[in-house]
Amino acid sequence: MNINELSKEDVDDLRKACKIASQALEYGKKLIKKDVFLLDIAESVDKKIINLGGEIAFPSQLSMDDLAAHFCPTKNNNPVLENQVVKLDVGAHINGFIGDNACTVDLSKENQELVKASRDALNNAIKIIKPGTTLSEIGKVIQETIMGHGFAPVRNLSGHGLGKFQVHTSPTIPNYDNQDSTRLKQGDVFAIEPFATNGEGIVIETSNPNVFALTNKKPVRDMTTRIVLKEIEKYNGLPFAKSWLEKKFPSFKVNFALKQLANIGMITEYPPLAERGKGIVSQAEHTILVEGKKAAVLTENI
Ligand code: MN
Ligand code: MN
Repeated sequence: MNINELSKEDVDDLRKACKIASQALEYGKKLIKKDVFLLDIAESVDKKIINLGGEIAFPSQLSMDDLAAHFCPTKNNNPVLENQVVKLDVGAHINGFIGDNACTVDLSKENQELVKASRDALNNAIKIIKPGTTLSEIGKVIQETIMGHGFAPVRNLSGHGLGKFQVHTSPTIPNYDNQDSTRLKQGDVFAIEPFATNGEGIVIETSNPNVFALTNKKPVRDMTTRIVLKEIEKYNGLPFAKSWLEKKFPSFKVNFALKQLANIGMITEYPPLAERGKGIVSQAEHTILVEGKKAAVLTENI
């Protein structure tokens, strides 16, 4: 997405959505404490987005330790916080224009350097952004910063463009020097999200997805599935959490319907992503706008 192709109203919506996403992230960060259940935090952050006048672009994700992303607590999988390293990833939208940002809280107090690595990588990347910067230059700065702290960047996770009602579009913003010579243009909007790990630097899909999106429309016969689908259709094709459906229907019906919809290829599953070497993972993320001579951080909490 490039703001030069948007109307003034659209750009206002984008800026507002980013501000709301950053305020909700700041709010959620303070809720990450020992003895708190993840689902309580996720629900509070989702509610905060609505209370601030936004809509939820994707369910607030709380991925811990070697899970890098895509963990959303459910009724039956609702861990309590102890000494984990917790990534909170929050997205808000207004009329489909999305702000996406994330941070990491280290409850272990033993992984402060790892948290700093991804945050410094994000900040250093932001510093070099201007029209003409190549994607590989961004990746190189991220990689060098993280390795300078003694860690590895996660190479198969990346930042991304943002579209109307689309959380991930081109371009891919690499977390390492991938030789992509595509140049940024004034007006480009995208998310940068470095992940750092003391493991291998590769994530793999695990089982039991708890985040989904409706990606294909097909006829459905089964009555239970149709009732659940009706609820899912309200999410505009954006990602949703199983826990949202569990507020409306019993878990066994939700599980049944989700399985049916996945089997016929109507929904896409986003299973939790785990570090292959079981390394701890930290993440930092901002939504960025390329201005005349520099980057504007749209999700900066001023
Ligand atoms: Mn994010
Ligand atoms: Mn993102």
